[in-house]
Amino acid sequence: MENILNYNIQDLEKYMTKVGEKKFRASQVFKWISNGIDSWDKMTNISKELSKKLESDFYIGLPAPILIQKSAIDGTIKVLFQLLNNENRLSEENIESVYMKYSYGNTICISSELGCKMGCKFCASTKNGLIRGLSSGEMYGQVLSINNLTGEKINHIVVMGIGEPFDNYEELSKFIRLINNPKGYNLGMRNITISSCGIIPYIDRFAHDFPQANLAISLHAPNDEIRKTIMPIANKYMITDLIDECKKYTLKTHRRVTFEYALIRGINDSIEDARELSKLLSGILCHVNLIPLNDVDNTNLNASKEVSIYNFKKVLDNNSIPVTIRRKLGSDIDAACGQLRARKGV
Ligand code: SAH
Repeated sequence: MENILNYNIQDLEKYMTKVGEKKFRASQVFKWISNGIDSWDKMTNISKELSKKLESDFYIGLPAPILIQKSAIDGTIKVLFQLLNNENRLSEENIESVYMKYSYGNTICISSELGCKMGCKFCASTKNGLIRGLSSGEMYGQVLSINNLTGEKINHIVVMGIGEPFDNYEELSKFIRLINNPKGYNLGMRNITISSCGIIPYIDRFAHDFPQANLAISLHAPNDEIRKTIMPIANKYMITDLIDECKKYTLKTHRRVTFEYALIRGINDSIEDARELSKLLSGILCHVNLIPLNDVDNTNLNASKEVSIYNFKKVLDNNSIPVTIRRKLGSDIDAACGQLRARKGV
């Protein structure tokens, strides 16, 4: 069986033609799916016959929430999901997604891969390596299941959970097209943000394919020397090349890039580092998001002191680099950046 969440409207149209149904049935089914329904009999405007066909060819791959944790501090919700396999049974594969409330609306942070192979020293998601990339439907399913759980409207989706989205580009793009489709979930491109550690060849592709979506780049260092000590990807791509590519991105899309910078005590948080970062980013349409490092077990990395964060920000401010300090959400339930992990057999 196939996960119907992987099917965009054109795929459903082909299916309808194949099984001798009218094409417009595709739109009806697509709409129901985007409403998060979990069984075929809830599709009240399609025939029993079609419902039977669908049931024998597809399953509705909404991941099952098996652990829901709510932060006592800020209401952030972290959901541990169990994925379904192709027999519509619960698999042994687990991923995490996070629901956050901001003043400007509700955001869901979804995972793009089961595990991650990027090896960033400060991130829990990469500890057990990569198991596999998620399908577009498995990404879409996280959004729909969280919608079902919270019953609240979602204004923004960030692909910043487990995994490196550009390492799973084909499925990522299918997911963006699914969630953006006006006949279904209809989330605006401007409300979608992809965060990448900077796999250079995909940046231009992303600019070309989704010029209105948002790009965040995990930079975390002002130069290669520091970056290499915490992010293995820095051995492959030079920071100056990465920044050049981001500049091209902004010229092509007229959209600013967000640079994420986790402040790690004694590693990348000195005044000198802030000055070097300011130089590196000068003249680029960008925004720097400073993230006080979140605790992850078994690393000897610590968050910067508050005063260093403040001083670091001040240098950027003085150099007219737009910068904010990211609010720490959900850290009491290990739902903050870098604290999510894929698990097997929970
Ligand atoms: N692989 C993608 C998306 C997942 S990580 C990427 O690298 O961007 C989402 C963000 O959280 C990234 O900016 C990542 O560098 C950051 N992050 C990871 N571990 C962190 C930690 N322990 N503290 C703070 N931020 C962290």
